[in-house]
Amino acid sequence: MKRIHIHQILGFLLMTVFVLINAFISYAGPVTGIIDGADDKNVRGWAFNSSEPDSSLPVKVIITNQLSGQVTAELETTTSKHRADLPQQGTGTGNYGFEVSVPWDSYGNGTYLIDAYAAGQKLSGTKVYGVGTDVSAVNLRSLGTFKTTAYCPCRQCSGKWGGHTSTGTIAASNHTISVDPRVIPYGSKLMIGGVIYTAEDCGGGVKGRHIDIFFNTHGETRFYGTRSMEIFLVQ
Ligand SMILES: [Zn+2]
Repeated sequence: MKRIHIHQILGFLLMTVFVLINAFISYAGPVTGIIDGADDKNVRGWAFNSSEPDSSLPVKVIITNQLSGQVTAELETTTSKHRADLPQQGTGTGNYGFEVSVPWDSYGNGTYLIDAYAAGQKLSGTKVYGVGTDVSAVNLRSLGTFKTTAYCPCRQCSGKWGGHTSTGTIAASNHTISVDPRVIPYGSKLMIGGVIYTAEDCGGGVKGRHIDIFFNTHGETRFYGTRSMEIFLVQ
């Protein structure tokens, strides 16, 4: 009898916590917004809470080094700029724009993911920006998780093809990937683990949601092995 009693108390406590969490979520309100621009100076966007259309929201822009996964910077601002385009679409008064200046040069070379949160809720429009690379501000779209493997120009990996790809280019490390062109069209730019690759090769063993990444040496391909990775389409 005593054990049942304890379970009843635990059940009641869990339900209380559940109700409180739900109350908190509904109190936070429906925030919508997007990062709609990023360049060598600024990150811009808008956000608003439809249940409090006259209030300014705190915004946190988070810059993450895509290769290391480390947060490089958290930049804070508020929604206060007027955006004439928003009332035209029927979004409140339009005083929902934000803009933060980003000291990219101080972050060092690399590829950075840009995310933003307004009143703690994540906005859409994740962007990527490259410092010292050929990436300017572009959009990333997750294609989900793929199986990834590695190959090199050796006979075991590439047979008679060597470093020649099926699209007529010479394969290069940190650039060439082999895909199933029915899934990933040739010429697509994909970001995998912080590196932006070009789909320009295919292979007999590369079918469906599988990407083979080119490396210069067989040792590197053995080190890479097989990894399950989230793949981003660079738009
Ligand atoms: Zn090889």
